[in-house]
Amino acid sequence: MRVIVIGGGIGGLALAQGLRQAGLTDIAVYERSGAEGGRMQGYRLRVSPEGEQALRDVLPQHLQDLLTATSDDRTEGGLDAYDDQLEQLWAPSFTDPRDGRADKVDAVDRGTLRGILLAGLGGVVRFGRTFTRLERHDDGRVTAYFTDGTTDTGDVLVAADGVNSTVRAQVRPDDAATDLGVRGILSRTPRDKAIAAGLPEFMRDRFVYVIGGDGCHLGLMPMVFREQPSEAAAQLSPGLELHDPGDYYMSVFSVHRENLGLPDDIFFAMTGEELRDFALERTAAWHPDLKGVFAHAEPEETHPVSLRATLPVTAWDTGPVVPLGDAVHTMPPTGGVGANTALRDAAGLTAALVRVDRGEVSLAQAVAGYQERMVAYSTAAIQMSLKIAKWSIQIDLAEEQTPAEVSGV
Ligand SMILES: Cc1cc2nc3c(=O)[nH]c(=O)nc-3n(C[C@H](O)[C@H](O)[C@H](O)COP(=O)(O)OP(=O)(O)OC[C@H]3O[C@@H](n4cnc5c(N)ncnc54)[C@H](O)[C@@H]3O)c2cc1C
Repeated sequence: MRVIVIGGGIGGLALAQGLRQAGLTDIAVYERSGAEGGRMQGYRLRVSPEGEQALRDVLPQHLQDLLTATSDDRTEGGLDAYDDQLEQLWAPSFTDPRDGRADKVDAVDRGTLRGILLAGLGGVVRFGRTFTRLERHDDGRVTAYFTDGTTDTGDVLVAADGVNSTVRAQVRPDDAATDLGVRGILSRTPRDKAIAAGLPEFMRDRFVYVIGGDGCHLGLMPMVFREQPSEAAAQLSPGLELHDPGDYYMSVFSVHRENLGLPDDIFFAMTGEELRDFALERTAAWHPDLKGVFAHAEPEETHPVSLRATLPVTAWDTGPVVPLGDAVHTMPPTGGVGANTALRDAAGLTAALVRVDRGEVSLAQAVAGYQERMVAYSTAAIQMSLKIAKWSIQIDLAEEQTPAEVSGV
């Protein structure tokens, strides 16, 4: 069985790892960006229990060990919310079945995870190849077309091309994610600089939200590496080169579109410096101890984002074009589960395709079963992310929710 994967992001690479682990070798992953990676590789990802399990399901043991070694294990369940003068508002707690486990992976650096997911896939991932359209054939096979004029034909084509999926635009044009009306500035600030500039002790090692009185919000998340990625890779996966970004805070500063004061086309064309200055200006009245988070943000790691959600998630047909990750279920980052859900898809689709390859089920049966489960858990993940978005960044949703209810999710 030949499997073509469109998109070498988190979900597509995890799928390729899983299929390889399971002994399937006829796989090609097509990624539009170069080997050095695309935009927005530099931030932290929270890893949920389900996401960690999926990573362990698809990775060989030495890469699991590398994942653990390079992760952040410290963030105990829960998050705190403060107003912009740093008065505490809420502190809902979450239980995590992994608490106390020595090899718990609570968060990872996205670039490091990408390096780990790429390990051993040298002959599989084709960089700089942009998918444009597909064609299905009577014999059930499917051909992918690329901007460079090349094509590839396989038995399965997996749409792992993210929130703006070109595959989805062709086969499910009505399924695009809904704009939640929030614009964000995603950034990275070196941890030592934020602390030297006054970030208070009680905010340093927690996932915190700052809810401004002016329609602006900040989500701040620490990333402290257990071991430096380059050293851990040298020991656990010789030959694999990982970069050391240093400990940092990831921040997402968000503003409702009506409070942005700028049209979208100008906001999305702003440089990292301009976005940093915009956030500094909009938070001038905030507590001075927060200033360093914005003032020391790295311009090359500062990007505009919009928050979107797929409402509702629906299964595609059970043919050879199979969706995975943000392409089928986009959610706001407030729940910290978008990538985890894509990883879960990758592990689930691996298991489904392995059964097809062994002749145990038909492709249609496998794809139907995978999608039935995927629609259920991704819908729950979107609902949870929207509930948190409602009280943390005040997205106006119909259903009334309170932090106490959210903490039980
Ligand atoms: C600010 C922010 C914070 C987040 N934090 C978290 C978190 O803490 N935890 C969490 O679980 N999730 C988080 N997420 C969500 C997470 O980043 C996504 O859910 C995840 O990346 C989805 O993975 P994916 O593989 O579906 O898509 P992606 O990782 O986006 O990968 C898609 C890939 O497809 C490629 N591609 C696109 N079009 C084409 C084409 N035409 N041809 C070839 N290749 C193409 C892209 O270049 C990209 O590499 C966050 C998101 C944001 C914006």
